[in-house]
Amino acid sequence: MGANDNHAFLLRERLPMLLQALEAEGYECIGPRWRDDAIIYDRLDDVDQLPRGIKVNQYPAEYCGEVHDSPRDFAWANGPQALKPFLFAPRETLWRVNRDETGRLNFEETPPDPPRRAIIGVRACDLAALALQDQHFLRSSYPDPAYAARRENLLLVAVNCSHPASTCFCASTGDGPVAKQGYDLLLDELDDGFMIQAGTAEGEAVMARLNLIPVTDGHREAIEIQQEKAHEQLRQVPGRQLRDALFSNLEHERWNEVAGRCLSCGNCTSVCPTCFCHSEEELAPLDGGSSEHVRQWDSCFTAGHSYIHGLTIRQQTRERYRQWLTHKFGSWHDQYGRSGCVGCGRCITWCPVGIDVTEELQVICGSDDA
Ligand code: SF4
Ligand code: SF4
Repeated sequence: MGANDNHAFLLRERLPMLLQALEAEGYECIGPRWRDDAIIYDRLDDVDQLPRGIKVNQYPAEYCGEVHDSPRDFAWANGPQALKPFLFAPRETLWRVNRDETGRLNFEETPPDPPRRAIIGVRACDLAALALQDQHFLRSSYPDPAYAARRENLLLVAVNCSHPASTCFCASTGDGPVAKQGYDLLLDELDDGFMIQAGTAEGEAVMARLNLIPVTDGHREAIEIQQEKAHEQLRQVPGRQLRDALFSNLEHERWNEVAGRCLSCGNCTSVCPTCFCHSEEELAPLDGGSSEHVRQWDSCFTAGHSYIHGLTIRQQTRERYRQWLTHKFGSWHDQYGRSGCVGCGRCITWCPVGIDVTEELQVICGSDDA
């Protein structure tokens, strides 16, 4: 490492040291694994559990892995999971209440007790999505303690994307494929190993435990070419400021057309790393002696999500799809100062009928970058 150069190189055969270093710093390792025909994040005890040689083809409504004769562990684009489930739990109890023998109600908070976790293999788009979720859950008027506890214990080992899928469009939203911030450690993978750099003091502490060698000019050149190639993505959003274009096209004929295809299933919102809609309910046994307040993921595509005082506001799929798109790419700018889309492409891959947001935006907004 040079005096002002934070980069070093970890030889592939020394990758197990990264897991050992993370464990020595007190982290449970979570990483990508191939399971149920998809890349998912799960506990990682051994680098042999990584999806070595796997490449993933993704198209609208299609996801298919292929095994190649390659030493690479991270040559795939994102699977259905983002970081979201590790921070914003799909379902959790927020509090309990019990009635004692005097009839008095006693409320009990149920804060999570999350382990210190290191997530390995995080992509640039998901770091950008995490920054948006942080904005919503940590920096609003009512910070979320459950999210905050999990976030506090998280260490992020990002890997720059070398093989984006055909559904990816992070280059056009400005969120990838190369991570610029939000990581503790950042890796660029080559056949013989990884260029590694730290983004935080925690990352530096892990890096200090590794047996690293200097980065060569050949490594740097190969990584530069790889990063340039990863920017060549097939899809793109028609502009980054779609707010005005969307709101001036609220009666566009395309909303009817897309509603004819959309199943209102909510898959797109489940896989979207920035969606945070949820519902809350009381679970009370029949004896009336206690109750549990539960929060779970919801979707703007369900009828119940817009139910207010006896009326479902968005009764038709047309209104739900329009709500999703105009919020994500429109009013999100008013709430959070940017679009709510980081270009991960998951909603395209995992939509069962292959609806493609980039195509819908192009038809509804044209190339109007208002
Ligand atoms: S809207 Fe689609 S492409 Fe954009 S962040 Fe959500 S899932 Fe990814
Ligand atoms: S756009 Fe696709 S994934 Fe989203 S609700 Fe409609 S059919 Fe389901």
